[in-house]
Amino acid sequence: MDYGEIQSINLARLLREGGSTEARGQIAGKIELGNDTIVLQDVVSWRVSVTAVGESELWLSGEIAGYAMMECRRCLDPTPTLVRAYFQHMLRYQPGLEHLEAIEEDDEEVFLFGKPDLELSPFLSEAFALELPYTALCQEDCPGLCEYCGANLKRAPQDCCPERSQKGKEGKLAVHLKKLDLEGIE
Ligand SMILES: [Zn+2]
Ligand SMILES: [Zn+2]
Repeated sequence: MDYGEIQSINLARLLREGGSTEARGQIAGKIELGNDTIVLQDVVSWRVSVTAVGESELWLSGEIAGYAMMECRRCLDPTPTLVRAYFQHMLRYQPGLEHLEAIEEDDEEVFLFGKPDLELSPFLSEAFALELPYTALCQEDCPGLCEYCGANLKRAPQDCCPERSQKGKEGKLAVHLKKLDLEGIE
């Protein structure tokens, strides 16, 4: 299957005859948004529907869902994170316009587009990015990294480095002394 295609929907018939139309597709690998790149675990799926609501006005609504690869905030392991986003926008056809343009009109945002073949990537990327959580955890109790050698404590042995095994011994000793102390008081 070819996932490399451009994400778009052809609105020529809709602009001529009214009614509504749908499209769906997939984005593989990554989503680009300005200078940012969101890495995907596999593919994300999207679907949109567009309904004519006036002479050249259209209502776009859609959904995009899939797994983004984030970094665990404690151990930095790649962590697949489910993202599901919905979006709705008012569009207006303005023939000849080169690029998608957003304007404010009566406190509402309207997107102007100039070609019947509407490029959907800006809408899909923005919606997906807005739903992306700020941070991720690979598992609720992720132990993070060793503070001395940087080993991933999920996989590292108890004594990943001399500093940590030393600290482990001190820890045991401290517990032992505390116990003795308490016993001494009694
Ligand atoms: Zn982790
Ligand atoms: Zn260590």
